[in-house]
Amino acid sequence: MIKFLDLHKINARFETDFQERFKSFLNSGHYILGSEVERFEMDFAAYCGTKYCIGTANGLDALTLIFKSYIHLGKLEINDEVIVPANTYIASILSIINAGLKPVLVEPDLETYNLSAEETIKHLNPNTKAILVVHLYGQLADMHAINTIAKSKGLLVIEDAAQAHGAVESSKFEVQSSRFKKAGNLGDAAAFSFYPTKNLGALGDAGAVTTNDRDLAETVKLMRNYGSSKKYVNEIIGVNSRLDELQAAFLNIKLKQLDKDNDMRRTMAKRYLHEIKNKKLTLPFYSGEDDHVFHVFVIRVIDRSGFETYLQSKGVEYLIHYPVPPHQQKALSMLNENKYPITEEIHKTVVSIPMSPVMAADEIFTVINALNAY
Ligand SMILES: *Cc1c(COP(=O)(O)O)cnc(C)c1O
Repeated sequence: MIKFLDLHKINARFETDFQERFKSFLNSGHYILGSEVERFEMDFAAYCGTKYCIGTANGLDALTLIFKSYIHLGKLEINDEVIVPANTYIASILSIINAGLKPVLVEPDLETYNLSAEETIKHLNPNTKAILVVHLYGQLADMHAINTIAKSKGLLVIEDAAQAHGAVESSKFEVQSSRFKKAGNLGDAAAFSFYPTKNLGALGDAGAVTTNDRDLAETVKLMRNYGSSKKYVNEIIGVNSRLDELQAAFLNIKLKQLDKDNDMRRTMAKRYLHEIKNKKLTLPFYSGEDDHVFHVFVIRVIDRSGFETYLQSKGVEYLIHYPVPPHQQKALSMLNENKYPITEEIHKTVVSIPMSPVMAADEIFTVINALNAY
C-alpha cells in the first residue's frame, strides 16, 4: 500500500527536537502567547518577507480575522462583495460569509485551476471591494493580473495561502530589487493554515496572518485575543483565536525544513510530469519554477470511478480535492442555483495522487508504473 501522505513519517524526522522543545515548554510554565509564538511570528514574517505575522488558532480564523479587521478599520463594510474562486476549499468562502461580507464566485482557469483574471473583470461592480485569491494546490495564482485589476479599481487583495507556504513569484515578474516575493507577501494581507497535512504543518490546529499593513496587523493581533493587548483591558470586540504555544514550538522547528521539503515535492512532481505517459490522464500545468510547492499533485481523468477502482486494486492511496464544489454544498444553499461549468468539470474529474517530501524512490516508481499501466 502506497500512502497518500505519511504524516507520521514526515514528523518522525523531528522527534528528538520536538521532545527537547516540549520539555522546555513544560518547564517554562508559560503556556499561552509565550516566547515560541513570538519567535514564530518573527521568523515566519521574515520567511515570507512581510513586516508582520500574527499567529491564529487555524487558517479559517486567519482569513476571517483579516476581513473582520478590515471592517473594523473602515476599509470594508458589511455586505461588500468579495470575489473568490468557485473552486476552492469551502473555508475561503466561509470566511467571507462569517465576516458579514458577500462572496461572489468566479470561475477558474482550466489550465491552472486558479482564479481567472478575465472572469474576475466580468464580475466587478461598484459593490466589489476585495478579491480573495487562493493559491490552489500550491500554485501561485496570477497575482500580476489580479493586482493590476485591484489597483485600477481600488480593491483589497487577500491571499488564501493555506496551500502555498514558500511558493515564490515567477522570475518573469522580477523587479529591480532582484528579491522574489513569496506567498503571503503578494497582496494586502494573507492567511496561512498549519493544519497537519499542509506543507508547513503543526501537530494540531494552527494558522497565521501575514501583512505589511501596520493597522491591519495591530487590529488582527487585538482581535485574536479578546480585543485586548493588556490583560483585562478590552479595546475592541474580539475572539479567542490565539496560536497555541506548543504548536508554535513545533512550527519553529519545522520552518527550517520547509524550503528543502518544497524542493523534494518539486523534484517528485517533475518525475511524475516526465514519466507519467498516459493519454487518459491530464497532468497539472507547471511552469518549472518555484511558484508551485505541490501541496497536492492533481491529475484529471474522465472515467474517475473506474480509475478509483483501478488505484485501489493497485494499492495506491488517493484523495479528491474536492468531491463537491462549495456552491453545491447544502450549507451554501443560497448559491445552489448558480452554475459554474468549469468548476463542476474540475470537481468531477480530479484525483490527487501521493505527494510528499518523504516518499521513497521505489514508492514513486510504483505509482508511475501503476498510472502508465492504466
Ligand atoms: C486548509 C485550508 C484552509 C483552512 O485551514 P484550517 O486551518 O483548516 O482552518 C483554508 N483555505 C484553504 C485553501 C485550505 O486548504
